[in-house]
Amino acid sequence: MSAWRDQLRAELARRQTEELTRQRRTLETPQGVRVRIAGRELLNFCSNDYLGLANHPALRQSLQAGVDAWGVGSGASHLVCGHQAPHEQAEARLAQFVGAEAALLFSTGYMANLAIPAAFLGRDDLILEDRLNHASLIDAAMVTRASFARYPHLNARSASEHARSHDEGRVLLATDTVFSMDGDIAPVATLAQQAAELDGLALFDDAHGFGVLGGGRGTLAELGIKPGGFVLMVGTLGKALGVCGAFVAGDRELIDYLVQFGRSYIYTTALPPALALTICRAVDLLEQEPDHLQRLQANLAHFRQCAEAHRLNLLASRTPIQPLMVGNAGKALALSQALLDRGFLVGAIRPPTVPLGTARLRIALSAAHQPDQIEQLVVHLAELMGDGAVC
Ligand SMILES: *Cc1c(COP(=O)(O)O)cnc(C)c1O
Repeated sequence: MSAWRDQLRAELARRQTEELTRQRRTLETPQGVRVRIAGRELLNFCSNDYLGLANHPALRQSLQAGVDAWGVGSGASHLVCGHQAPHEQAEARLAQFVGAEAALLFSTGYMANLAIPAAFLGRDDLILEDRLNHASLIDAAMVTRASFARYPHLNARSASEHARSHDEGRVLLATDTVFSMDGDIAPVATLAQQAAELDGLALFDDAHGFGVLGGGRGTLAELGIKPGGFVLMVGTLGKALGVCGAFVAGDRELIDYLVQFGRSYIYTTALPPALALTICRAVDLLEQEPDHLQRLQANLAHFRQCAEAHRLNLLASRTPIQPLMVGNAGKALALSQALLDRGFLVGAIRPPTVPLGTARLRIALSAAHQPDQIEQLVVHLAELMGDGAVC
């Protein structure tokens, strides 16, 4: 075979020796707390279905009814003839829910993030990102012609100093609100203030805050900040909302601009209309059934209390993302495997998803967990980490 095939093989082999090879596990069941993989029943502590809505009867029913009324596919992109009444309805519902003038529906959060920097920035402009931002925001910066720099994690002052040294052009500050691998929260209010002072724009990716914080309305709502003016919010609909897709919320002018210039909005097929209807129904559920969120909060408190009692080395997080720092990638993998042997599905997160030397278990909690399932997880974790068998 050709030389470049040899290179690919060498790279794959290197991943393997560094214990960084990723495996896809095939679920033989719907998403939920109890799943089956390779014939084994497991307790799932790694999904982003934080409210347990992915399999909610009302959402299943809504999707089925949506298909009956609207068929399966949208058939075209939004600007050709794929933009249908359910998409309009979902955008209006989402905008109203987060207190924005307007919202724009995207097929995924990755695509929502990808659209924004390239639409608003050109050659003389600057995009500044938190060092631990999600890959989609990093990729979004790379498809612009703007200068791109990353500031130390959570360090708004460093971002501001860098921005002020950039004397011409626009500045975009982009950050995860809740960090997807750490569960901690960005200095949102400070960054929003800085964007205003710079006459720039702050992009807040609330993939893990929407549906969870601020009574479900997201991290900005918790702080009393409405998307609009110098602030754009991205919310995703495939995590806490249990469906699929994403939206950008902000003032009408910026949303209209994205319809014209957001390439990953324009050049792709619109979401199936039945999904847009199901998204509306999921937002209704957030308002009508606050018990999902209450159960999630109770589970989080219970988990942290149990973990503390067993002296587990948790990072500070009040979100459903509860990382347990391990350090070495091989160790994290061994722990995850040992948990799997005991019937628990917990993800080992390794480089390049996280920086070198910060491999961890990413424990994700859901409203659908039972308190005793959480206790069992903590007991097994404590055993594995304490008796020296694995670590
Ligand atoms: C998951 C995630 C995304 C991507 O959203 P998808 O809808 O899954 O494409 C974007 N940003 C962050 C922080 C995420 O965790």
